[in-house]
Amino acid sequence: MISREFPPILDGHQDFITAIPNQDRDFLTESERGHVDLPRAERGGLGGTFVSIWLSDQRAEHNAVGYSLLEMNDYLRICDRSAGQVRAVRTTAELDAALDEGAFAGIIHFEGADPFSYSLKELRVFYEAGLRSLGITWSRPTIFGYGVMFRDPQPKGGLTDAGFALVEECKRLGILLDVSHLNPAGFWDLHRVMDRPFVATHSSVKAISPHVRNLDDGQIRAIAEKDGTIGINFALSFLRPDMDRQNDDVPLDLVVSHFEHVINLVGDRHVSFGSDYDGTSVPRELKDAAHLPVLLREFKRRGWSDDRIERVCNGNFRRVLKAVWR
Ligand SMILES: [Zn+2]
Repeated sequence: MISREFPPILDGHQDFITAIPNQDRDFLTESERGHVDLPRAERGGLGGTFVSIWLSDQRAEHNAVGYSLLEMNDYLRICDRSAGQVRAVRTTAELDAALDEGAFAGIIHFEGADPFSYSLKELRVFYEAGLRSLGITWSRPTIFGYGVMFRDPQPKGGLTDAGFALVEECKRLGILLDVSHLNPAGFWDLHRVMDRPFVATHSSVKAISPHVRNLDDGQIRAIAEKDGTIGINFALSFLRPDMDRQNDDVPLDLVVSHFEHVINLVGDRHVSFGSDYDGTSVPRELKDAAHLPVLLREFKRRGWSDDRIERVCNGNFRRVLKAVWR
């Protein structure tokens, strides 16, 4: 049963489907390895997450459709073995039910549109299989657009014609669009054609850490303008002003300052969690899902209202999904 000290956290991004096969552990059993499993989620009040399906360069190049199916299967099999405690939610009613009942709510997310061809025929079938959230790119190009590369210079191109067609098909189906890995030109192309909320599932604030994956104030305002939300990423290099990716001695103050920068700029309807657990190195004090209440207690200590904490924990993502999902 989920801890009820705080509202359940709905996290924007976790990579345990990628991490677990290399760590000799199981999602349903508590482990010292990695960041998230069901027992640690329950202790930390983690109600669910966007479950990232991510492909290595080799998998993306050789058989993106096949490997995406295998990785979705990995999550669905965890759900099958969990006796209803871990779920793949496809509707806001299913999301609400999982969070209310204290089950783990997983939203299947593709970190990059690599499996889809120009025809977009694959997308329709993956939707039927449970896909409800999509990043147009990871940090490599697809036929649809360009990702933020790990080092400058960044690609200048925006969305391709196929990219604009992909956006329209996602609107039609009710798939949430995520800009976290998209390059700035692609971001602004998407913003221009969106008549509904979109999100950055796992990015932090560029005004604090100048990392290429973080969002500048103009992008934060643009996401808020469409009533979307931003999941703050716990990656050391995204949080720290010096972008040091080894030093896990990150004060809680600094983590909170990313949330509060967004709140001061556009209000508390547009910021959420985007931990990137099991996909990156994180601050010592937030070393796994069981430690999430440490941050929530810090919010409280700084005088955040219960309403604000509820919005940041899950309300903002829930509002966006109600606007986007069919
Ligand atoms: Zn990512």
